[in-house]
Amino acid sequence: MDSTMTLPTIEPGKLWIAGKPVASSSGKQIDVINPATGAKLASVERGEAADVDRAVKAARRALESGPWPKMNASERSKILWRIGELIDKHRDELALLETLNTGKTLKGAQRGDMKPAADIFNYYAGWARHYHGEVIPVDGPFLNYTLREPVGVVGMITAWNYPMLLAAWKVAPALATGCTAVIKPSELTPLTTLGLAELAAEADVPEGVINVVTGYGPEAGEALGRHMDVDKIAFTGSIRTARALLKASGESNLKRLSLELGGKSPNIIFPDADLDAALSAAFWAIYANKGEVCSAGSRLLLHKDIHDQFLERLVEKAKKMVVGNPLDPKTEMGAQISQAQLDRILGYVSSGVEQGARLECGGERDTEGEKARGFFSKPTVFSGVKPEMKIAQEEIFGPVLAAIQFSDDEEAVAIANGTVYGLVSAVWTRDVRRAHRLARAIKAGVVWINTYNGFDSAAPFGGYKQSGFGREMGEHALESYTQVKSVWVAL
Ligand code: NAD
Repeated sequence: MDSTMTLPTIEPGKLWIAGKPVASSSGKQIDVINPATGAKLASVERGEAADVDRAVKAARRALESGPWPKMNASERSKILWRIGELIDKHRDELALLETLNTGKTLKGAQRGDMKPAADIFNYYAGWARHYHGEVIPVDGPFLNYTLREPVGVVGMITAWNYPMLLAAWKVAPALATGCTAVIKPSELTPLTTLGLAELAAEADVPEGVINVVTGYGPEAGEALGRHMDVDKIAFTGSIRTARALLKASGESNLKRLSLELGGKSPNIIFPDADLDAALSAAFWAIYANKGEVCSAGSRLLLHKDIHDQFLERLVEKAKKMVVGNPLDPKTEMGAQISQAQLDRILGYVSSGVEQGARLECGGERDTEGEKARGFFSKPTVFSGVKPEMKIAQEEIFGPVLAAIQFSDDEEAVAIANGTVYGLVSAVWTRDVRRAHRLARAIKAGVVWINTYNGFDSAAPFGGYKQSGFGREMGEHALESYTQVKSVWVAL
């Protein structure tokens, strides 16, 4: 790390319950690590079932009494707008905190995390006043209308790759619709979520509307998933945990779930595409945020006519990529989140080699200079990958690209759809008919045509198949934070 950089002093984190910082009942702490140095960055409380229960009670009280349920939609809208403004005002500190905690580049955290996190609150500030019921023309002498009511207390469980943004995607529609929240951030990256709760209080969110319980998944997360008074879980993470949450819901109060899970997303390049644009996009599709992105373009499908030239250029770029100190503006890729994640990535590299894929570059830990202290990985490209190989089927969640050759549209679609995932996809071609044909044929929640990683607060995002269900962002997210009541009036 740059020794001249002054790091912020981070106080030991407390839980955030009913509008104030409180200690956990166990009194135990979790160390939070800076992945770029391997050093301890802070410690947070190790919340457990008793703490989750306190937080859920606070959220229930706030949902049913006090100012929140009585508040006009216009006032909720102003509060949401203020949260957006406060995130924007503090974006540099928040981005620095996110960088220190996740190992992502500082410029990435500013642009890719804090900017959209602020924007989602501004976006849902509008919806707070616009999402409402309807009048339905039923038969007979009746008036029938619907009310869109908040689903209730929402448990939010998030992953470590975009901690602030994933929480913001959930909190903003929850507040817009009048819900209350208990957030359980990843134990690896809890810091900015605690910051979000404090900023929300500054923006006049009443006490108990947002609560944060830091802790481990099998303890705090499991307790939230099994709590009888939580109405919905909004989850971002792995399929494995999603299964545990579905089971917990089934064994408790049948709480609703929305699940944003992983991906093994195909990025399909045809010979008639703008190949320069496709090259740059394919590079960032896999290496942005060090490949720890649910929407990573981790399967590069190259048409046989351009396969060799495209691959050669991509490998050249990967070899030159600047990996290092996330705070340095020249750095293009920071550190993986943890030693465990690095080991997992290298395990997949070994499996790729064993199954006969060609390792074109990378494939090892980067231990050059100061990087030896952190969890750095070299940008990796495999060619000659067969669709059935493990590195083409399983989500690696690291900077490992699997290049697969195809011959025609049908084969591309078959390969694209040939995994359990269906989060995002991309098609590069100048043939309009082919582009739209493939947009229909690919089973994924997002299809990008001649672009990659297009995100907007107004556009829905979420998966097909085992990439999950429910949508984040846009009007569609509001559905899962509300329930519809049908009211009949005899005229
Ligand atoms: P994970 O499932 O291990 O953990 C996610 C969260 O669940 C953490 O807060 C964890 O503490 C908690 N958890 C773990 N076990 C639990 C349990 N038994 N009950 C309740 N909660 C529990 O996932 P991760 O390793 O943090 O994140 C990586 C995964 O998240 C990848 O699969 C990635 O694709 C996915 N992801 C998806 C999106 C999306 O929007 N689709 C975004 C980011 C990450």
